[in-house]
Amino acid sequence: MSEQENVLEMARRQLALASRHLDLDDGLHAALAKPKRQVTVNFPVVMDNGQVQVFEGFRVQHNASRGPTKGGIRYHHDVDLDETTALAMWMTWKCAVVNIPYGGAKGGVRVDVKRLSKRELEKLTRRFVTEITGILGERSDIPAPDIGTNATVMSWIMDTFSMHAGYTVPGVVTGKPIELGGSEGRVEATGRGVVVSMEEAAKLINLDLGSATIAVQGFGNVGSVAARLAHDLGATVVAVSDAKGGIYNPKGLPIHDLYYRYSGIEGGIHNFKECEKITNEQLLEIDCDVLVPAAISQQLHKRNADKVKAKLIVEGANGPTTPDADEIFSDKGILVIPDILANAGGVVTSYFEWVQDLQNFFWEESQVNDRLARIMRHAYHAVDQTMRAHKTDMRTAAMIIGVKRVADATVMRGIYP
Ligand code: NAD
Repeated sequence: MSEQENVLEMARRQLALASRHLDLDDGLHAALAKPKRQVTVNFPVVMDNGQVQVFEGFRVQHNASRGPTKGGIRYHHDVDLDETTALAMWMTWKCAVVNIPYGGAKGGVRVDVKRLSKRELEKLTRRFVTEITGILGERSDIPAPDIGTNATVMSWIMDTFSMHAGYTVPGVVTGKPIELGGSEGRVEATGRGVVVSMEEAAKLINLDLGSATIAVQGFGNVGSVAARLAHDLGATVVAVSDAKGGIYNPKGLPIHDLYYRYSGIEGGIHNFKECEKITNEQLLEIDCDVLVPAAISQQLHKRNADKVKAKLIVEGANGPTTPDADEIFSDKGILVIPDILANAGGVVTSYFEWVQDLQNFFWEESQVNDRLARIMRHAYHAVDQTMRAHKTDMRTAAMIIGVKRVADATVMRGIYP
């Protein structure tokens, strides 16, 4: 990581490029380059062995011009304020690209969750939420799951916030279990959106997904669902990986079997025998038509971008491609569907969950999936048209749409007082 660009610098470079296309006023650009609010908390947790451990956590709200801020909570040992801020910025543009009425936020705790017992995880979550409870709310800032957090953590967030409020507030967090006001289709939503984007791109570049080969980095929530749904469309998934490395079979991996046996089990895919073991670096360079990075940021950079063989890259992860790699892909004619479009399915369905919670009226899974696909397709084609009109790459086109919507809302609202 040390050679790599700070992710916040990367997010700001992307904003600067879009701002130039939009000829954005300098003051407005400066306002959009900064987060509205950054909160850092240090809080103690009594561990199972009786020792007190102090954790550092963050919640960053980037921009609320278009509505309450929305963004996941990440538990990971690399979490820091800059990364959380960059992720909050990307959430702002993402919500605007798919045109849902939210601004962007992100939160996180610097922790290695694998080292915590379930009881420690619950205590950490409840104390973290208590520390930031003043800035959360169903009308102000609504968290969701991200790396290292899941529906159980979301239940504890909802319960902790509700205990402070004195009544149940399901709309304060999304990604909850169905029993607590979660939405049908939410668990699969991000991977489903990735595959809808992939389908739209494939049509436009004349790639037959029925005979295409796909490699997926990260067999977690996003990657495993994307792999399964792409497989169901007839594609051959030749490689998948997790943090421990990857598995490869040029004839195709049994994705349903892997999904039902190992998704959610860190390292589980390595128990599968009929395959070649590969590293995560090799996976990115494998011979395939479509590459789905669905793990962590800055995986595709100037040292490996030249070696990528895929024709299409669909970003399931946030920030997997550095600006240097973007340039190389653009020169090589590799189409990159950017994160703020490709992985927006999660926040779209989180929006559906929030709407259902506020109305106490719940939808069937088919309604959720149909509405999600419609929004994703609409956004895809808007970005594609902007890309052609501005003669640019897809990331810049998505940024142009997102930044313009946020800038317009900011100008229309004016500066208070
Ligand atoms: P997850 O924790 O379920 O899965 C992450 C996967 O990546 C795991 O298989 C893990 O082993 C693997 N991984 C971790 N470090 C790795 C490394 N160094 N190299 C290769 N693989 C590694 O997380 P997720 O929810 O699937 O999120 C994955 C990515 O998608 C993240 O960038 C996240 O921000 C983004 N994202 C998630 C959602 C969502 O709804 N879950 C929505 C939008 C974007």
